[in-house]
Amino acid sequence: MIKPINEMNISFKALSVNEGFARACVAAFCAQVNPSLDEITDIKTAVSEAVTNCVVHAYPKKVGDVNIKVELYENSVIIFVSDNGIGIEDFERAREPFFTTKPNEERSGMGFTVMESFMDKLELLKNEGRGVTVKMEKFFSIKKNIAVGE
Ligand code: ATP
Ligand code: MG
Repeated sequence: MIKPINEMNISFKALSVNEGFARACVAAFCAQVNPSLDEITDIKTAVSEAVTNCVVHAYPKKVGDVNIKVELYENSVIIFVSDNGIGIEDFERAREPFFTTKPNEERSGMGFTVMESFMDKLELLKNEGRGVTVKMEKFFSIKKNIAVGE
């Protein structure tokens, strides 16, 4: 197993004000391996969708916590977004485009589809106890050192 070159964890309340914080925080952490602007934008979008799901779906009764773990590699990143909420019964169905359990709240059921298309791998994992972990991975393009005059 290749070890990450760096790792971080953050934890915050499942409140919508924290969506921007989480997105910016993960992007800032990834910046140290010089990803392209497009790659950073993709990561921000995927993190937003995952965190929004924790805010909107995981905790119907109380405001629980969201945890994000980031493992950074030279040419890739793995991001885990987890909650201790109500969980998802059927992962396959939840991942289908346009599937939503909240059609009346302006939800389009496209969150997982967006995460899947902006990242290279997406996995849903049942947490021990309660809740869900969304594991997503993105590969960074190989950076070339372009010599002047070449
Ligand atoms: P959109 O993301 O387009 O606003 P959505 O959130 O309903 O709509 P997805 O993000 O694809 O769509 O999620 C699909 C369904 O999976 C949700 O409607 C919800 O039932 C379930 N779900 C997603 N994340 C969680 C979570 N963290 N905890 C519990 N249920 C979840
Ligand atoms: Mg969603």
